[in-house]
Amino acid sequence: MHLDHLPRQRLASLPTPLQPLERLSKALGGPQIWIKRDDQTGLALGGNKARKLEFLVADALRQGCDTLVTAGAAQSNHCRQTAAAAAASGLDCHLVLGGEPPAAPNGNLLLDQLLGASVHWSGPARRGETLERVVAALHDDGRHPYAIPYGGSNALGALGFVAAAEELRDQLRAEALQLDTIVIASSSGGTQAGLAAGLRLLDMEIELVGIGIDKGEAGDAPYREQLATLASAAARLAGSDTLFAEDDFIVDEGYLGAGYGIPGDLEREAIGLLARSEGILVDPVYTGRAFGGMLDQIRQGRWGADQTLLFWHTGGAPALFHHAAELAADVDTKERG
Ligand SMILES: *Cc1c(COP(=O)(O)O)cnc(C)c1O
Repeated sequence: MHLDHLPRQRLASLPTPLQPLERLSKALGGPQIWIKRDDQTGLALGGNKARKLEFLVADALRQGCDTLVTAGAAQSNHCRQTAAAAAASGLDCHLVLGGEPPAAPNGNLLLDQLLGASVHWSGPARRGETLERVVAALHDDGRHPYAIPYGGSNALGALGFVAAAEELRDQLRAEALQLDTIVIASSSGGTQAGLAAGLRLLDMEIELVGIGIDKGEAGDAPYREQLATLASAAARLAGSDTLFAEDDFIVDEGYLGAGYGIPGDLEREAIGLLARSEGILVDPVYTGRAFGGMLDQIRQGRWGADQTLLFWHTGGAPALFHHAAELAADVDTKERG
């Protein structure tokens, strides 16, 4: 696989740490659990989107664009890191966010504003349905916009996680560590597809389990089909003609709860357990759900005590502050009980 010929803008602090969760693994009495700290990629409080943006922003600069345009939910981590990448690269940033403007912006939305992004509210559409309209308006104003899809999940963005597989390979060698399974939160797909492509191209035989975070939109291709298309396209950019099929992907959609961005008991318990046993924060929307799903499967005995798991922490902590009310309620109950 070849990535060196592709333009890449250095935005993330890499490699991110690879750490054992010794206290938690012991407490659970199950497999050995390690964590990959992509919550520490830097770029305005970390997260997985920094890896994708290294390839996307480089492409924008190569094309002579002056403005990044992307879309997401009001509390999108992707939008916050895109705003930071724009600022760090001397570009303007326009964000198309789902919902209506809140009275008091907090969490990621507050950071978007501090980072200088212009926000366009799009009502019920939070996956970039109205992105093209904003791009066209910027063209009309004489700007040179560069559109980044929802979640940064196109082939170029997914390359960030092809490169991440290489980074992991080097760290596993240095630790003399062998993994059975990687667990990751999966939503717009660039992370899981890129990582799957990277693992395959490097002949790393590790099971990759995506925990589904939200249901796709009606009319979209089935999610695992989207992952296959994206992984094949990312592999092609990396110089390989490997093709992926739906069956190459495991996505567990059993933890969707009350829906996207609505934390429940699963997320609350996961956030509290990892925080109190290891001092590490996962978020209420993505990584809390994925970590909770992994804990549930460990308790069901899916992996034996002789196996080794890696939880790939994709970030998201700024949304903790947006969900303060739901999360603080949990602490209250525990103290009274
Ligand atoms: C975007 C995001 C994900 C999901 O990554 P995709 O590439 O969209 O599947 C997981 N965790 C966090 C914190 C995210 O912001």
